[in-house]
Amino acid sequence: MNLAGKVAVVTGGSRGIGRAICIRLASMGALVYVNYVSRSTAAEETAAIIRQAAGRAEIIGFDVADGTSVQNTFKKIVSEAGSVDILVNNAGITRDGLMARMKEDDWNVVIDTNLKGAFLCAKAATREMMKKKWGRIVNISSVSGFAGNPGQVNYAAAKAGMIGLTKAMAREYASRNITVNSVAPGYIETEMTELLSLEAREQIKKEIILASFGKVEDVAGAVAYLVSDDGRYITGQTLHVNGGMYM
Ligand code: NAP
Repeated sequence: MNLAGKVAVVTGGSRGIGRAICIRLASMGALVYVNYVSRSTAAEETAAIIRQAAGRAEIIGFDVADGTSVQNTFKKIVSEAGSVDILVNNAGITRDGLMARMKEDDWNVVIDTNLKGAFLCAKAATREMMKKKWGRIVNISSVSGFAGNPGQVNYAAAKAGMIGLTKAMAREYASRNITVNSVAPGYIETEMTELLSLEAREQIKKEIILASFGKVEDVAGAVAYLVSDDGRYITGQTLHVNGGMYM
């Protein structure tokens, strides 16, 4: 599982699942660009953890939903590091609410960040990957995109959309030796799931056959496998990391 010499960009790498992915890829030898949108201190913390373990990391602030900013940032990374070999589209937000009361803005911001953001970053990254005829892209989807979830029509639509994006991209880029896969977490302990009430957590746990929420490292391990040489013959697939709550 050696990523020495590879350059990885992890969107939303400042905290939660993204931070664990950054740490894991850096431990495999990649130079990791830790993206954040607002919490630069959290991104610095991720980079510091990596450097303390003798890994290599840089932080990079940009909004994945802003096309111009994405383009400029990827150009900057390539001029600094020479390439982008691995992209993990992990940045994501929720704006939950029942559909009858959901505002158009809540729909737009979730689709823009979670789905359009993945498209924009993948478009910028593949430009570089095609030149090297090597690339790995992993899109972080969600069990909500497969099973649906009341109160999350915006989020579920974006996460299901990422699966279509993954499959269509896999077909378009296979001849360039670029694999495109998805990881669909179930419920993982992060700030995102801290928002759930105690009752909601207990209810959800009843549906998880392994009987607990997952850890960020569980998702990072799946990503590590897909971007490593062990995953070289896998493309267009989704790896479900959900304790068996959805099959
Ligand atoms: P989190 O703790 O809320 O962290 C979200 C991350 O996304 C932060 O690093 C944040 O940056 C970044 N971000 C948000 N909007 C952004 C934007 N416009 N541009 C760039 N970065 C942006 O989330 P998480 O729980 O780790 O989730 C990570 C991914 O896994 C998401 O895509 C989420 O949908 C998915 N997922 C999570 C779970 C779960 O149970 N936690 C389950 C299924 C899927 P700042 O720190 O700067 O705000």
